[in-house]
Amino acid sequence: MTALIDLSLHEAAQALRAGETSARELTLACIARMEEVDGHVHAFLAQTPDLALEHADRADKMLAEARKGENESLSNLVGIPVAIKDVLTIRGVPTTCGSKILEGYRPPYTATSVQRLIDSGAVILGKTNTDEFAMGSSTENSAYGVTHNPWDLARVPGGSSGGSAAAVAARMCFAALGTDTGGSVRQPAAFCGITGLKPSYGRVSRYGLIAYGSSLDTVGIHAHSAAEMAVLYTTMAGHDELDSTSMPGAVEEIQLQDGDLRGIRVGVPKEYFIDGIQPAVEAAVREALNVLGDLGCELQEISLPHTNLALPVYYIIAPAEASANLARYDGIRFGPRKNGDDLWDTYLKTRGELFGPEVKRRIMLGTYALSSGYYDAYYAQAQKVRTLIKQDFERAFERVDLIASPVTPTTAFPIGAHEDDPLAMYLEDVFTLPANLAGVPGLAFPVGFDDSGLPIGMQITGPHLGEAILFRVTHAYQKATDWHNKEALL
Ligand code: GLN
Repeated sequence: MTALIDLSLHEAAQALRAGETSARELTLACIARMEEVDGHVHAFLAQTPDLALEHADRADKMLAEARKGENESLSNLVGIPVAIKDVLTIRGVPTTCGSKILEGYRPPYTATSVQRLIDSGAVILGKTNTDEFAMGSSTENSAYGVTHNPWDLARVPGGSSGGSAAAVAARMCFAALGTDTGGSVRQPAAFCGITGLKPSYGRVSRYGLIAYGSSLDTVGIHAHSAAEMAVLYTTMAGHDELDSTSMPGAVEEIQLQDGDLRGIRVGVPKEYFIDGIQPAVEAAVREALNVLGDLGCELQEISLPHTNLALPVYYIIAPAEASANLARYDGIRFGPRKNGDDLWDTYLKTRGELFGPEVKRRIMLGTYALSSGYYDAYYAQAQKVRTLIKQDFERAFERVDLIASPVTPTTAFPIGAHEDDPLAMYLEDVFTLPANLAGVPGLAFPVGFDDSGLPIGMQITGPHLGEAILFRVTHAYQKATDWHNKEALL
């Protein structure tokens, strides 16, 4: 029999229903896998085996009732072990955001996204590593050590949700939650050879997601396939009265059975195939486009003319919002304190010693862009250009149903490669940032490997609240191909 950790989420759900395994057994298999490989990968910042077994025992009760016919409508999530990025709160569980400034912090409430998974019977295994406050593209900015890419331990897993992506790729859990402000779910999915969704802004509640850039932040999902992600997405999506930016109204149903993509118009933006893109990445994405063509999609070249402005706009808006959001960490209200001679000195010491260099860089950038005299020149101007970027997408979606592109210009880079060059790191997100600025959903999935055996991802982007078509197209692609089933040999 296939080892439990090698099952897909649906196979595991079926085995649980059939009584061939129990949630406790499945959870223990994941815990054993963490013990076996996480010393090498370092995907987890906190493992919560006691909580996981409590959830597992509750799931086993739900499953037993279902077998007696008392609970017919059982979610496929019952008894499924998942991991949570350490920027989402779980009541009583250490939540650090990868920062020393929140060391030892135990939030008094649980994020809505996580709570909805728990309520549906999922098993929470622990909290995963992240760049400090989700600022980064490699997980190297975590104050608690870097996460290693399961495909090549000398390389980064991407970031900032690198811990979640690596945990899924190394089969320590069946799925994981990440967050995506500028690419942090899609980029690590591409680097780790898994599937990742950044939903539309407002589709999944941000309550309990510790804020980085509030107008860009989304809660996303990592799994091996679109079908698995759909189980988590349908559980989490929808209005939450605790988040005033969450969208009211019903969530569109996700239909996965249809492998026929005839009539779907796919736009291929010419601005996304730039000089400097790794040839293997371009080749794999072009080949995946051919597969979509074979499945019935109509491909056409389109233009998103303001693409080259996304990076500078993002690096004004995100740091500006971050500088406001991070003002609350002052040593008084949350986490540890470094006592100084007076209150001002205490603020300086606490923030100076406990924030890492990238976070300080962003706070300075953001504070500068918001300061009087510069506000109009930088922040207000960036907001105007953001509107132009959003309009690029709106115009494109008058002609096409979705937009396809690479996720990243390159495959996973070696740990330390961008150490002294923050701009090179920022460039990792050129293809993912625009979707956050426009608020539209993006889905990344594996489409091949480069010469070093590192995974390559393709991104498809849909109109606002257009998740259903992204799921449908990815599922059809994954039925026709096998890339998402390839495993990191760890
Ligand atoms: N890498 C980008 C940044 O550092 C995006 C991060 C994210 O999506 N959280 O801001």
